[in-house]
Amino acid sequence: MNQTEEIIIVGSGPAGLTAALYSARANLSPLLIEGIPAGGQLMLTTMVENWPGYRDGIMGPELIETLRAQAERFGSRTVMGQVQRFDLSETPYIVETSDMRYEARALIISTGASARLLGLPSERVLMGHGVSTCATCDGYFFKEKPIAVVGGGDSAMEEALFLTKFASRVTVVHRRDTLRASKIMQDKALAHARITFEWSSIVEDIRDADQGMVTGVVVRNTKTNVAKELSVDGVFVAIGHTPNTDLLVGQLDLDDHGYIRTRSGTRTSQLGVFACGDVQDPVYRQAVTAAGSGCMAAIDAERYLEGLPMDATGKGAEVRSAD
Ligand code: NAP
Repeated sequence: MNQTEEIIIVGSGPAGLTAALYSARANLSPLLIEGIPAGGQLMLTTMVENWPGYRDGIMGPELIETLRAQAERFGSRTVMGQVQRFDLSETPYIVETSDMRYEARALIISTGASARLLGLPSERVLMGHGVSTCATCDGYFFKEKPIAVVGGGDSAMEEALFLTKFASRVTVVHRRDTLRASKIMQDKALAHARITFEWSSIVEDIRDADQGMVTGVVVRNTKTNVAKELSVDGVFVAIGHTPNTDLLVGQLDLDDHGYIRTRSGTRTSQLGVFACGDVQDPVYRQAVTAAGSGCMAAIDAERYLEGLPMDATGKGAEVRSAD
């Protein structure tokens, strides 16, 4: 059994890394369990132009690497691995990866959110074989090829615009006749010569699972009920995200969409467990708001730990009311 950690942070996007930076600077020597893939959604991004302080923007992976190095400079310890189980029923809290079991007096959950999928059998079969949720990861494979992007939000517009660098033609398939995306993103996508739209259309099937490669998408217009097949070599699904809270069901109070409910800053329904970043934020979902909430979580956790009566081993500590 490992010694009880003061603080374990789970997830290594901007929220978790900022929490690590602040709790390291508070001399708490945090243990950061990165998660797989490490770094969160910024690792799937190219240029981040809205991170304050970088006038000309910074690449997403570079920003993550810089944040990690900054946190480690003050004593944050990073371990690779994916958490398989939490036990939050009593302190110290237990966090298990496939090969390690950790104990912590305080926990910061920053596990982020994952790409939502259409739920088609063909989508599952062809994922990684022409179906993707990440244009920046896979766009390169579609040089001079026609592709489809599914969704009508900012993610879909961003993916579509990015993919015009490679694809011969980008068709956005959206289930309604108006976009959800912000005005600026809509304007850019609507004005782009190589982006066309299939409005009020749902994807019924992705062809061709039998061949193990994408040859087209079958879309049905919800107004005319007419189905047709678009000939494409790739399909990028960009229909939003789901918070990564499966392991926390029944252990923390979650909202109807699975996001962790926080109150009074970053406190969860369990004393000593804090949440920050996209896993608790269905509204703002920005790197900078994630980082801000990571700072808040570290400060909340530090204050919580300061209020704990501790014995020599740190075990069996009683918790005080968080309010
Ligand atoms: P989102 O805003 O929730 O949009 C999801 C889109 O997918 C919607 O158009 C939705 O259609 C569609 N959709 C959802 N489920 C679907 C399904 N089962 N089948 C077909 N279509 C489906 O998600 P997002 O685009 O990922 O954006 C999330 C947040 O991040 C937003 O706040 C956004 O502003 C922000 N964001 C910002 C940027 C940027 O500023 N550069 C980039 C990406 C994301 P309906 O419209 O009909 O609901």
